[in-house]
Amino acid sequence: MRILVTGGAGFLGSHLCERLLADGHDVLCLDNFFTGRKVNISHLLGKPAFELIRHDVVDPFKVEVDQIYNLACPASPVHYQVNPIKTTKTSVMGAINCLGLAKRVKARVFQASTSEVYGDPEMHPQPEGYRGLVNPIGPRACYDEGKRCAETLFFDYHRENGVDIRVARIFNTYGPRMQPKDGRVVSNFILQALAGQEITLYGDGSQTRSFCYVDDLIEGFLRFMNQNECVGPMNLGNPVEFTIRELAEKVIALTGSKSRLVERPLPQDDPRQRQPDISLAKRVIDWEPRVPLEEGLQRTIPYFRENPV
Ligand code: NAD
Ligand code: UDP
Repeated sequence: MRILVTGGAGFLGSHLCERLLADGHDVLCLDNFFTGRKVNISHLLGKPAFELIRHDVVDPFKVEVDQIYNLACPASPVHYQVNPIKTTKTSVMGAINCLGLAKRVKARVFQASTSEVYGDPEMHPQPEGYRGLVNPIGPRACYDEGKRCAETLFFDYHRENGVDIRVARIFNTYGPRMQPKDGRVVSNFILQALAGQEITLYGDGSQTRSFCYVDDLIEGFLRFMNQNECVGPMNLGNPVEFTIRELAEKVIALTGSKSRLVERPLPQDDPRQRQPDISLAKRVIDWEPRVPLEEGLQRTIPYFRENPV
């Protein structure tokens, strides 16, 4: 197949492009390099089946493809809050442009949605039927509400125009090629531990997250995209939950670091708990993560040793 990956030069996008090429597909990687980096895909550039297009998803584009994965959007709070209006535009206009293209060329289109649509959840773990608790005017809203609106557009194009959609709700994912400076917790803690700096717990570190290793997530993407039973939304993430303090302690143990933990102010609207209910993914695509946190961290730490900036 010919497959378009928007946001293909980013963390998840570059792993997806790599996997699609390995599976024998032609891949078009579209990116405006806001948070993505050429170095993430430089090893793919010489391959005849790989093409790179510098473009912004806010503006329409035309390509002939069989499938579209729409991943273009800054994903870390540090980056999506730099220009919050642009973040919402990227999610909303990007969705409209991908859906318009999918409608014209009759391509199947996948949306990288997020656990952030559940906001600071009152239900735990979060099943797809839970409608969420999102602050529509807070600092995270540009991302959360942008992604919620994108889901609305996906389902309206599906109902109104028969567009063949797949909507995945992705939970915290980590691995090589996360951006060192994007402020996400796994990259921050590993970099701080390797540099012998203080490890910054926001709040007292009792908030929880469930961390999925990137290879597991990409396997979930492909299984979900290539089945015909369910258009989603489908949670994809690791259901094993840790406190942020436990994560810090694991990183210190695995790096052999002498760093100490320090507490810093908790950002506004930071969700207290997050854990996916993945029963739907287990049933429909027979998927669950296989890489435990320690093993995933062991695969990720060498990347940050070699790429500290
Ligand atoms: P990332 O920031 O590494 O990748 C995003 C990519 O999109 C970058 O290459 C960036 O340059 C590109 N991009 C941003 N705005 C664009 C625009 N207007 N036009 C074209 N390209 C643009 O983030 P990631 O972690 O790889 O996330 C990929 C997708 O998955 C995002 O949509 C994100 O919301 C979603 N997601 C990720 C996670 C996670 O834990 N990594 C969790 C939930 C959802
Ligand atoms: N966090 C932290 N120290 C850091 C970076 C993040 O304690 O240096 C916390 C953050 O407050 C949140 C959790 O780790 O509770 C996950 O943050 P991240 O930005 O990685 O993802 P998200 O909040 O979007 O789930």
